[in-house]
Amino acid sequence: MNTTTKARTDSRRGDPLLTVDNLRTVFDTDDGQVQAVDGIDFTVHPGETVCIVGESGSGKTVTSESITQLFKSPPGSIADGSVVFDGDDLAARSEEELTDIRGARISHIFQNPQGALNPVYTVGWQLIEAIQLHQDVEKDDAREEAVDLLSRVGIPEASARLDDYPHELSGGMKQRVMIAMALACQPDLLIADEPTTALDVTIQAQILRLLRDLQEEFEMGIIFITHDLGVVAEIADRVVVMYAGKVMERGSVYDVFDSPSHPYTKALLECLPGHGSLGGIPGSLPDPIDPPEGCRFADRCPYAIEECRTGAQPAFESAAGDGHEVSCVHYQTADDPSVLERVGGDTASESGTQRTGRTDGGTDESGKQERTTGGGRRE
Ligand code: SF4
Repeated sequence: MNTTTKARTDSRRGDPLLTVDNLRTVFDTDDGQVQAVDGIDFTVHPGETVCIVGESGSGKTVTSESITQLFKSPPGSIADGSVVFDGDDLAARSEEELTDIRGARISHIFQNPQGALNPVYTVGWQLIEAIQLHQDVEKDDAREEAVDLLSRVGIPEASARLDDYPHELSGGMKQRVMIAMALACQPDLLIADEPTTALDVTIQAQILRLLRDLQEEFEMGIIFITHDLGVVAEIADRVVVMYAGKVMERGSVYDVFDSPSHPYTKALLECLPGHGSLGGIPGSLPDPIDPPEGCRFADRCPYAIEECRTGAQPAFESAAGDGHEVSCVHYQTADDPSVLERVGGDTASESGTQRTGRTDGGTDESGKQERTTGGGRRE
């Protein structure tokens, strides 16, 4: 953990910009209803970066899409909960009302800029259109603003690049154009879904630095979706760890990295290079159509006991650090970060968990293919 990250942990000021409360998002499929996001809570404050982390299939992308209901509906729908943005419950808003909010107050950046940019229009045309869509300005003024935005996101000779088509730009440049489009209306909240995954590490570092600089300039809240804990350490103020549609742990990046409390968070961190685990987390995600009772991580957890497999998800309990919370039965009897060391990791064999080395797919005892993503799953 570097000092830059430590310095970024005290970011919560005033009221939250976004409060997600008991959010449930489902997808109706021929096989049944996929519980993609199942009762999650988190907040984002102005000027704060909240990273949502977890494996593919954990529900992080559906969470980000649920905020402005970007998912296709049907089959997707918000089944319960609220998404309160600046005092307004977006979960209760019509598609028309959400269209006004998207791009104007809440912007999205996606993983694949090539797919998000229209290949038959110049980047200038697309940027100017985005500006005029949300601002009452003449074309010449919008063009001037487009040049200014491209310059701010670090595109050299911005005026000349306005006439380039997307295929004439590198991957990093295209992502910078997408960021410029997302910033065109100075959003209060930027939702970035794996925006650097397709980029090489040098460009990735430049984009992360750019987002941090622009966040300071615009005081935006940022939700950053990623499976890369190295990126989380670079950019996050707070972290929300998701597994199988549920939040498992949440807290400041400092507390979650220095005192990871949930066994799933520990397992994710052990997968980082140089931290011991070479084979990933054994086992696979539970069936999202028919998830198990109790803790959804139980089949893969070396600390699982019988109590983990019954009833509702374990209630959140405080872990070490301000606002650091964990959903695990072992913390309900002892508010102590070392509790897992005392419990030991040897209960796995008693509960039947086998370390197979598989991280996805695989077969269950009956020889059927395990479902890891389910029909209609967005991740
Ligand atoms: S010990 Fe039980 S409740 Fe805690 S993470 Fe493991 S399975 Fe879940």
